[in-house]
Amino acid sequence: MRSAAAAADALQTPVQYLKGVGPRRAGDLAAVGVQTVEDLLLTLPRRYEDRAILQSIRDLRPGEATTIGGTVLSCGLRTTRRPGFRIFEMLVQDATGRVRVAFLNQAFLKGVFAARQQVLLHGRVDRRPTGGLQITNPDHEIVSDEEDDAWGEPIHTGRIVPVYEKIGSLTPKSLRRVVHDALQRLPAEVDDPLPDGVRRSLGAPPRRQALADAHFPPTGTSIEALDRFGTPAQQRLIFEEFFFFQVGLLLRRRESDTRVKPRRLVVDDRIRQAARDLLPFRLTRHQRQALREIVEDLQRPRPMNRLLQGDVGSGKTIVALLAALVAMENGLQVAFMAPTEMLAEQHYASISRVLSRSRFAAALLTGTLPARTRREAGSRIANGASQLVVGTHALVQGDVRFRALGLAIIDEQHRFGVVQRAILRDKGLDPDVLVMTATPIPRTLALTAYGDLDVSEIRERLPGRQPVKTVIRSEARRTETYDLVRTELRAGKQAFVVYPLVEESEKLDLRAATEMAAELQARVFPDARVGLVHGRMATAERERTMAAFAAARIDVLVATTVIEVGIDVPNATVMVIEQAERFGLAQLHQLRGRVGRGAARSCCVLMHAARLSDAAEARLRALAGTTDGFEIAERDLELRGPGDFFGTRQSGVPLFRVGDLLRDHRLMEEARRAAAAWIDGPEAIGPRLDAVRSAWTRRFGLAGVA
Ligand code: ADP
Ligand code: MG
Repeated sequence: MRSAAAAADALQTPVQYLKGVGPRRAGDLAAVGVQTVEDLLLTLPRRYEDRAILQSIRDLRPGEATTIGGTVLSCGLRTTRRPGFRIFEMLVQDATGRVRVAFLNQAFLKGVFAARQQVLLHGRVDRRPTGGLQITNPDHEIVSDEEDDAWGEPIHTGRIVPVYEKIGSLTPKSLRRVVHDALQRLPAEVDDPLPDGVRRSLGAPPRRQALADAHFPPTGTSIEALDRFGTPAQQRLIFEEFFFFQVGLLLRRRESDTRVKPRRLVVDDRIRQAARDLLPFRLTRHQRQALREIVEDLQRPRPMNRLLQGDVGSGKTIVALLAALVAMENGLQVAFMAPTEMLAEQHYASISRVLSRSRFAAALLTGTLPARTRREAGSRIANGASQLVVGTHALVQGDVRFRALGLAIIDEQHRFGVVQRAILRDKGLDPDVLVMTATPIPRTLALTAYGDLDVSEIRERLPGRQPVKTVIRSEARRTETYDLVRTELRAGKQAFVVYPLVEESEKLDLRAATEMAAELQARVFPDARVGLVHGRMATAERERTMAAFAAARIDVLVATTVIEVGIDVPNATVMVIEQAERFGLAQLHQLRGRVGRGAARSCCVLMHAARLSDAAEARLRALAGTTDGFEIAERDLELRGPGDFFGTRQSGVPLFRVGDLLRDHRLMEEARRAAAAWIDGPEAIGPRLDAVRSAWTRRFGLAGVA
């Protein structure tokens, strides 16, 4: 048996030592990150073609692709009337008949083919201008030079063949040959970086076999399985990539996270009873699961870093509050941070209501408080009289001193509390951190891009809540939309009419929204009270108007997207979104979340210009198709791609070579579980860990992940 070192060397051989790879091709390969044989073999085909079944020449039909095998009877170069245009022709025979084969402008084939050769051909069957059939420009393979020789292993035909993406000067066909050569040169066994235990429990084929089968699948492999990268060989290579990625993340986390909480939290029967007393309803299954995960974190020695994802109104806040109760029962304080002052006030009001059933008190700390009130609140926080503090994100940035901060809850939109966590750490505070977001990101991405966050999800709707009915409607049918709004208003309900407002056309947008409000009031809903809020209004005025809407003193609220965050008005049952095609998918979903917050049936109308781009139509359809924010996040990602999804390439979403985050997200989760189990197990000894660490650094780079 060869030593593992020699085998590893074979994979690390630079590609230019392969047959057919000169300096130019090596350069083309290097440009896409392919330097070694291993790099090359981990560049999997884009798709596969089944050329395994040889068709009888007698059965050929024009217009179809075919694979045949036979003997060359004669061949030669034919000139045509077009100057310089020559055709290389062959006559090929099998047991059932003969067919002509034409290669246009490939005179060099004169030196390649000869009579009596055994050949395999794959190509399209055409009708000849002069009658009869011909195969034009087929992929070809000379299997043997003599009729009775045994057939060697074919590469391009007579089997399932890989189809590669062109790389510079390397055509799919030349890549096929180069990869085949690389595989031929590999020793019978290559070092398998995947730990034995992991590989066994996965039932995955050995690496050597996986590499071979992923490029040249054994006859009989399902093309459908191959094309969705679902064969054991492909899955193993994807898993391998994900596994090392996850091990790397865990190692990094372990190294940076040697911090220990000053105090360990406990949960006993008394605390459990206090939690029950706080709850006016039964938690849903997902809420209970999320709470369990959070409370387990609280009891661990290391600070929690958890993301709680769930749609608006899915019941995240109450889960967070129960976690807060556990912290407070343990003598610790809780900071609750909201993205805006208005939201902080809303949270403060509802949290105070819930906490009135406990022995704890909440304080509100915002920038708009009078200086004296603020000072007083500050001293109650410092001496521990206030156990829970609600404020904006500025809460952690200011000079607030806690007596014993144990838990920070961050209600966030997009940034996952990265900034706040850093600030807390810089201040020498190491509380448990729970980040809540109503803009879910697909779990796979959460696990990768934000690998240092654990993720809990609430995916069920609360009991009694109905999904918001969503309709897509062209502007031409405005009257019908107004009729619908009118019906709801007559039933005592309220409506939102939302206008897009983008920076480039802000003035125009503002005018449109303002005119719309006037128009709706004067002509469309003369009996209703119409209000207007937009981002350019003074905060006080905006909040006054919002408060009036919340108190049902305004029936129709015309708004630019400033209502995206915040407002909670269960009596609002219609959301009309004007020029919906100008919004992003996640934004539309957030807007729609403003209705459907009560028990009544709600509706969202997506108004759009008569002419829609395909992309815009896809977005609107995706939104109308589901109310599940998680599904929408996945669709959003599909429509935009990971780079775009996070807005920038520095978002830390790694680019994988074999795996695909969307297609293979289940494998990513499996890899994460396997990595977590392995890293704490007996196999994860020093040298192995070092090897994994260096492989990971080489592949993804330490700076890659936020
Ligand atoms: P989120 O924070 O996810 O937006 P909230 O926690 O604010 O959602 O919950 C929305 C509303 O539903 C609140 O009024 C809350 O009291 C209520 N609620 C939460 N969980 C439940 C439940 N299990 N059963 C009934 N009502 C619930
Ligand atoms: Mg909420």
